Amino acid sequence: MASGEKFDCIVVGAGPAGTTCAYTLAKAGLSVVLLERGEAPGSKNVMGGILYSTILNKVIPNFWEEAPVERRVVKKVFSVLSADSELQMGMRFENFNKPPFNNTFTVLRGKFDAWYAKKAEEAGVMILNQAVVDKVITEGKKAVGVKTRLEDGDLFADMIVVAEGVGSLLAERLGLRERHVPEHMVTCCKEVIALPKEVIEERFNIEGEEGVSLEYFGGSVKGMVGSAFLYTNKETISVGIGVSTRDLKYNKLTPNDLIENFKEHPSIRRLVKSGKLLEYSAHMIPEFGYDHLPKLTMDGLILAGDAAGFVNMNPMFHEGSNLAMASGLYAAETIIEAKKKNDFSEGGLAGYRKRLEDSFVFKDLKRYKGISNFATKHPEFFKEYPELLVELAEDFFTVSETPKGKSRMAVIKKGLKRVNLLKLAIGMNRARKVMF
Ligand SMILES: Cc1cc2nc3c(=O)[nH]c(=O)nc-3n(C[C@H](O)[C@H](O)[C@H](O)COP(=O)(O)OP(=O)(O)OC[C@H]3O[C@@H](n4cnc5c(N)ncnc54)[C@H](O)[C@@H]3O)c2cc1C
Repeated sequence: MASGEKFDCIVVGAGPAGTTCAYTLAKAGLSVVLLERGEAPGSKNVMGGILYSTILNKVIPNFWEEAPVERRVVKKVFSVLSADSELQMGMRFENFNKPPFNNTFTVLRGKFDAWYAKKAEEAGVMILNQAVVDKVITEGKKAVGVKTRLEDGDLFADMIVVAEGVGSLLAERLGLRERHVPEHMVTCCKEVIALPKEVIEERFNIEGEEGVSLEYFGGSVKGMVGSAFLYTNKETISVGIGVSTRDLKYNKLTPNDLIENFKEHPSIRRLVKSGKLLEYSAHMIPEFGYDHLPKLTMDGLILAGDAAGFVNMNPMFHEGSNLAMASGLYAAETIIEAKKKNDFSEGGLAGYRKRLEDSFVFKDLKRYKGISNFATKHPEFFKEYPELLVELAEDFFTVSETPKGKSRMAVIKKGLKRVNLLKLAIGMNRARKVMF
């Protein structure tokens, strides 16, 4: 490749957004270079591990037959923890055991991203690893290329897609978004812990390719705004926490303190017991919310995936992968359209926003845009209420010679003493509006 070579499109970042975009463009016959700062796609990537795949299944139908997915999630468990106890709601759906497996798979990003990038390469994408992009080159108001740390230096294209994930300094330097603030960020850390396959299946009551996702609220992150998770892979489990960066700072705790505390909880200790730590990583999740999205396009450039803040903040889903892939796909479709018209201006790229608006991406972002504000205004839903709920359940089921009617009344009285009913009703109503 010669310095100054011109492509139809340069995609920055080989995560789910960038690779989906590059793959789709190459399939349509456009010349594409995909630049990844890591040694290989996936080497720098962190994700809890649930790949939501409605979009991937459109891009590569029945991808699970060849992709290195770990397990299909047939069981979902939601738990509220207090300091030492747990209240759990679990579900298992046999339909999720049949194709397309509810489009919910556990994956390890190191393996998955490498496979996906290989598919893009086979489709004609030129992939350059260890290619850090430092700057988007502009001519007037138009993006025309990128400055890389590669020997060959600058690359040029009709279109640049910035899919470099949450940090996205390129977007900030271009003035497309403001500097990140702790209020809009979640700090995460994750461990991959090895356990024999048979132990995982027995411990989590699953068999064959089946997998389980467990989400923990309340005491899992010491009552801060956030949650913890545990997902089963073939021969490992992914364990992690995600917590409001603002809360973490305020409480002067580190992600490492939280994950260690979580793993020592009596309910979790026995799930991770005798496992061997293979990987530890820390990362951020953008939770800008619909009202704080960046500017998504400029002449010759599109922002996609986490770089644009496309993450569903609802803690029941933690869905970023599918939104990243959807935005990568819509970016590619918009660029194909722009190429036909030979119009790469911001106006010529208006189809990108339209596609996002017509899809689940913006509909979900709009639907759940109030979650962050709710969490700030109602910290009791993360600490006091979960603790009380577990305590009342324990009281209710504690066996004694007190007549059941009397012990039930004692539980109700205790609840009423500790909770302001009006505040609870207002909070529940707001929670219903922003979460469901
Ligand atoms: C702990 C954790 C748990 C999560 N759990 C889930 C989950 O279970 N399910 C889910 O759907 N989502 C989850 N997410 C969110 C999900 O990981 C992201 O939404 C998704 O990865 C976004 O994809 P992306 O392609 O936009 O960015 P990324 O996956 O971050 O990919 C960006 C790529 O760009 C590269 N890059 C960055 N800067 C440059 C540069 N300057 N030059 C060249 N390359 C660059 C990076 O190395 C990386 O490969 C989780 C996130 C975290 C942190």
